[in-house]
Amino acid sequence: MENFADITFPEFAPATVWLVGAGPGDPKLLTLFAYHALQQANVIVHDALVDPAILALAAPHAKLEAMGKRGGQATSAKQKDITLRLIELARAGHKVLRLKGGDPFVFGRGAEEALPILNANIEVRIIPGISAGIAGSAYAGIPVSDGQSNQVISFVTGHDTSGQVPAVDWQALAKSSPVIVFYMPMKHVDKIQAELLKAGRQADEPVCVVSKATTPEQQTCDTTLGSCVKDLSKTNIKAPALFIIGPTVALRQQLTECF
Ligand code: SAH
Repeated sequence: MENFADITFPEFAPATVWLVGAGPGDPKLLTLFAYHALQQANVIVHDALVDPAILALAAPHAKLEAMGKRGGQATSAKQKDITLRLIELARAGHKVLRLKGGDPFVFGRGAEEALPILNANIEVRIIPGISAGIAGSAYAGIPVSDGQSNQVISFVTGHDTSGQVPAVDWQALAKSSPVIVFYMPMKHVDKIQAELLKAGRQADEPVCVVSKATTPEQQTCDTTLGSCVKDLSKTNIKAPALFIIGPTVALRQQLTECF
């Protein structure tokens, strides 16, 4: 880190766990703290969303373990197994880096991992990352807020921990939040569309679905609330994706060139 000599980073002590956000994909969006952690760790347990270009920044001696939950896939590791593995590695004296996509606390189950580790008397440090909802929207040219159009932004998960559409108050959400960014929307786009229309949002409101945002495979689908299910079915857009609705989506036409 010789170029950043004035910034001091804490020492990554053996037998501790650092829970680190890797950002949405583009390695340039890593924080300096995350980069420091990658250089210091000797075991990196990463989830499925972390870009290989980021893992390539690990120190040469670091051991990589893929252990990620991914939208309820049958093969994805159970949360409990991940936590037990982190405890086991820390107890063996490793500097354990748990690397998660985006920010660990934004729909990332960060606390669910940190608390049992703390309860096992192992030191945990949390290093925030840039969440996909913010940087992913931006890379598609969509500001999540704009002074002219919204004073509220909502980040909503498209499914809860059991895979169902979450029990949010759709009326309140639709009324109070001009811009809504859905994480994990792909399984339930039809239900999200139906709930928002029922709650009074207009069929001609602009919607953009952005997949693999900030990576070279970024794809977007420009549509409206009324047509989103039909329009998406004509694309091959897949998770990880964001579903963004609201007036700022229209700014994309001018801002998309900025990234
Ligand atoms: N902790 C993460 C979110 C984990 S939930 C964060 O803060 O970003 C996983 C969901 O995040 C995905 O289903 C998708 O909705 C979103 N996501 C993560 N990376 C993404 C990317 N590069 N492009 C679009 N959506 C992404």
